[in-house]
Amino acid sequence: MAAGAVLLTGSNRGIGLGLVKQLLRTPQPPAWIFATCRHTAGSRAQELRDLASKHPNLVLVKLDVADPSTITQAVKIVEEKLNGMGLNLLINNAGIYTPEASLETVGAEEMIRTYKTNAVGPLLMAQAFLPLLKKAAQESTERGLSCRRAAIINISAMLGSIQKTPHCFFKPVISYRCSKAALNMLTRCQALTYREAGILCVALHPGWVKTDMGGQEADLTVDTSVQGLLSVLPVLSEKHNGALLNWEVDGIPC
Ligand code: NDP
Repeated sequence: MAAGAVLLTGSNRGIGLGLVKQLLRTPQPPAWIFATCRHTAGSRAQELRDLASKHPNLVLVKLDVADPSTITQAVKIVEEKLNGMGLNLLINNAGIYTPEASLETVGAEEMIRTYKTNAVGPLLMAQAFLPLLKKAAQESTERGLSCRRAAIINISAMLGSIQKTPHCFFKPVISYRCSKAALNMLTRCQALTYREAGILCVALHPGWVKTDMGGQEADLTVDTSVQGLLSVLPVLSEKHNGALLNWEVDGIPC
């Protein structure tokens, strides 16, 4: 998938870092990879900084999806680097998860905190980067909707599927489920709205992955999940617009 410019959130660890590493290793890496994270200076971003020192197309940008002022700052930095070019791919990957949030215990603050990061964050990111995504779509020689042209990929979760809930309710995680259900709805609304501008919008479930969030008992390594996600991106088209898909391109009922 030869995308000109890609931006990811939450790219200092887990699936986000895995995506950055594999994007750098593709035969035709993107001209620009904007790897954003909350703390670009501390030890949490050491691996990203090491990669950036070796890859001139990798740019680290400070961005907290729950802090709109950092999103505005990030847009300025990205715009300057792109120097008139558009942004082809926005991957909203950052997310939080509170395992102990059951119906009995979850409170308003936890619900709001998770919603702010997992649902409002992707909304604000898309709003802020929309002009750059539109520019990429307009200037592309591609027709129809595709990640090569312009796309918003929201990393969602099966746990946000309302229809699938009875099959996996042994993990209640109420705040997480509600926030990801909202993200799936957001994706559908974005798809219906941004289609005219030539921007594809899809929610992807990465599988159950061995990360800080997924835990070490999870099914998939980061490498396998990321390989799956990156193999899905090039095949996405109009027919997938607004859907929640897994890393094998099977639709998941929302
Ligand atoms: P991790 O917990 O390993 O990593 C989460 C990433 O999100 C970190 O980089 C973290 O940064 C970042 N992040 C959290 N809050 C913010 C914020 N406010 N602003 C910017 N970045 C933030 O999670 P995974 O890699 O496992 O998950 C990535 C995505 O995949 C998430 O959206 C998750 O919901 C989804 N997913 C994961 C599954 C799994 O099994 N792992 C299953 C289904 C979906 P920091 O280091 O600063 O905290």
